[in-house]
Amino acid sequence: MIIYGSEIAKEIKNEVAEKISELVRNGLRKPRLAIVLVGEDPASLSYIRGKEKASREVGFDFVLYKEKETVKEEELLKLIDNLNQDETIDGILVQLPLPKHLCEARVISAIDASKDVDGLSLLNSGRLFKGEDGLFPCTALGVMEILRRSKIEVEGRNVIVIGRSKLVGLPLARMLTSANATVTLAHSYTKDLKSLTKLYDIVIVAIGQPKFLKAEDIKEEAVVIDVGINRLDGHLCGDVDFEKVSQKASAITPVPKGVGPMTIACLMQNTLKAYEMRQK
Ligand code: NDP
Repeated sequence: MIIYGSEIAKEIKNEVAEKISELVRNGLRKPRLAIVLVGEDPASLSYIRGKEKASREVGFDFVLYKEKETVKEEELLKLIDNLNQDETIDGILVQLPLPKHLCEARVISAIDASKDVDGLSLLNSGRLFKGEDGLFPCTALGVMEILRRSKIEVEGRNVIVIGRSKLVGLPLARMLTSANATVTLAHSYTKDLKSLTKLYDIVIVAIGQPKFLKAEDIKEEAVVIDVGINRLDGHLCGDVDFEKVSQKASAITPVPKGVGPMTIACLMQNTLKAYEMRQK
């Protein structure tokens, strides 16, 4: 089974769009997402275009705040503070990476946790790790949605997540643990990784190494989720050698059209959730 995250993402965006139509029918205002961009990084601009397009498709209001590459940290923190106070803004996202002179941790922590739709603030990280409800990182949520909506059971199964970033691997390992999987979190210091991966029912790779996971590294019928996005010989590819691994796996996500579109779909879900939490 090839699992097209792009199709699941459409399903999620349709669900969000339906809820927004209902809000509008009931005379309520639409959720509003604010994105802050510092500088003109082409990759960041392209990610923001995708987020803006999805926001408009589902019916959110979208505002982009563009700051110069040289913006001072105090100015950026002031902008975030204003957005925190603004009752018409439900979600705030600061596009990463930030220029080197800005402290990412300080900037992200300045976002009010109830509007932190990227789920990266200290409070939301704490809530995730304590098993409480909150706003959590979108790519990790996207992988969980792929598994749930493809009816891939995780409870009681052995799962290996390769990559322990704060954005993907670490929160995903926590979510899988909450869903009662037995989780191994591997990283660049893991010894004999390729013999380990063979033992797992579900292998999730999020490391940024093109075609790292080969067919001989998995057991027959394993489920393989490829989070990686890499450019190789002018084409996009994942962290999995898709052609060969797909012959052996029982289910696998492709790149592109796999986990990538789910990240934006879950950002839409998070923004709606932030709106609903604030209405309550
Ligand atoms: P980071 O660079 O922040 O983290 C990479 C992680 O992989 C680290 O934990 C690192 O280990 C580990 N790692 C690197 N090389 C190896 C190796 N050879 N063996 C084992 N572990 C290794 O990356 P991100 O988590 O941000 O992103 C990972 C990939 O996912 C990238 O390709 C990125 O483009 C993609 N991505 C995709 C998204 C999507 O929407 N589909 C969203 C976000 C990311 P250590 O901690 O020891 O250094």
